[in-house]
Amino acid sequence: MAKIPFITKEKIEEIVKTYPTPFHIYDEKGIRENARKVYKAFSWNKGFREYFAVKATPNPYILQILKEEGCGTDCATKVELMMAKACRFENPYIFFSSNVTPAEEYAYAKEINAIINFDDITHLKYFEENVGEFPETVCCRFNTGGVFKISNSIMDNPQEAKYGFTRDQLTEGFRYLKSKGVKHFGIHAFLASNTQTNEYYPELAKILFKTAVELKEETGADIRFINLSGGVGINYLPEGEQNDILAIGEGVRKVYEEILVPAEMGDIALYTEMGRFMLAPYGHLVATAIHEKHTYKEYIGLDACAANLMRPAIYGAYHHITVAGKEDAPCTCKYDVTGGLCENSDKFAVDRMLPKIDIGDRIIIHDTGAHGFSMGYQYNGKLRSAELLLCEDGSVKMIRRAETPKDYFATFDFTHIFDGIDQ
Ligand SMILES: *Cc1c(COP(=O)(O)O)cnc(C)c1O
Repeated sequence: MAKIPFITKEKIEEIVKTYPTPFHIYDEKGIRENARKVYKAFSWNKGFREYFAVKATPNPYILQILKEEGCGTDCATKVELMMAKACRFENPYIFFSSNVTPAEEYAYAKEINAIINFDDITHLKYFEENVGEFPETVCCRFNTGGVFKISNSIMDNPQEAKYGFTRDQLTEGFRYLKSKGVKHFGIHAFLASNTQTNEYYPELAKILFKTAVELKEETGADIRFINLSGGVGINYLPEGEQNDILAIGEGVRKVYEEILVPAEMGDIALYTEMGRFMLAPYGHLVATAIHEKHTYKEYIGLDACAANLMRPAIYGAYHHITVAGKEDAPCTCKYDVTGGLCENSDKFAVDRMLPKIDIGDRIIIHDTGAHGFSMGYQYNGKLRSAELLLCEDGSVKMIRRAETPKDYFATFDFTHIFDGIDQ
């Protein structure tokens, strides 16, 4: 019961007078406080910077808030780079961590002076042939192979991941880049996703710091930064612990002092590329209960569906649900809470104990601030919702309007069918 919404029923009723459900809403205050905590956790590292993973919540207003808190952006595609550029992020505040990258996207990244993080050794020649000279500073992504374990529990399986250079390729790649005039280097790795332990970053840091020391010895490369990437998770369940970013920062500091400082590499800047940890808890999907159905099970049907939030449908992910105004009511009813897609996987919750839900109740789905709206789609002609911002002063701002049928049809060349149709 530890999940408390950042918005009340009264506030929702006020909002829906202007913006109908469903919508995603973000909590500016929560985002800022968390970002400041992240910077505090790594304040011991002089060059520390969080490059927010744009794919998690690609909205210029969100990027602007993070920018004001000192963050940069981590982009994976040209369109994400264009958004960062449009939001006036400049070098060194744009990181480009892509894979299977088209030449045109590398060219654009170079043009706007993003820090390019190469995913593969073959991309080096590809870049030279299709784009030209390397920038002065280049990063390479490391894949350790094997399984990634923390105290004997398997976190993830890098061996099976498509990303990154092997260890030997890193040495070869650094030598090659050096021979081509690259002056400064970075190393990056992402070995596990949504981790639920304060040990993930310290363990990853240990691997990357040792690798940095070796690469410097082997190639003489001037390593300026190490990017711990994303993967710091949040606990979607109402019970249990949340990751403690201050403890995580402290854990990384210990490893830094053990490995990098003695190697006279104590001036290396640390970067992170968190998405989920920066935003997930500070977003809610707010919907309305529009149907109840009593068949072999009890169903509550919402005006939101998996097109607004895919995680439950594709990963069976748990998202906590609060019935607005019934926060303290006993959870006496067992429901499947569903959307209206013609897909039986379109369920926000299965066999969930909740207070008795009445038609018209506002349903708050928690932790949708990252990989929520952004993974949405238009299956079944369900249109994307609006995104709203609950500002620090309590006011609400629309930061993306809801789609209309016209948006859905915009990629066809028959807009004339709308002549005379009231939209
Ligand atoms: C997705 C991604 C991130 C962010 O991951 P989170 O789990 O949201 O922290 C960071 N870096 C890269 C390269 C990614 O692909």
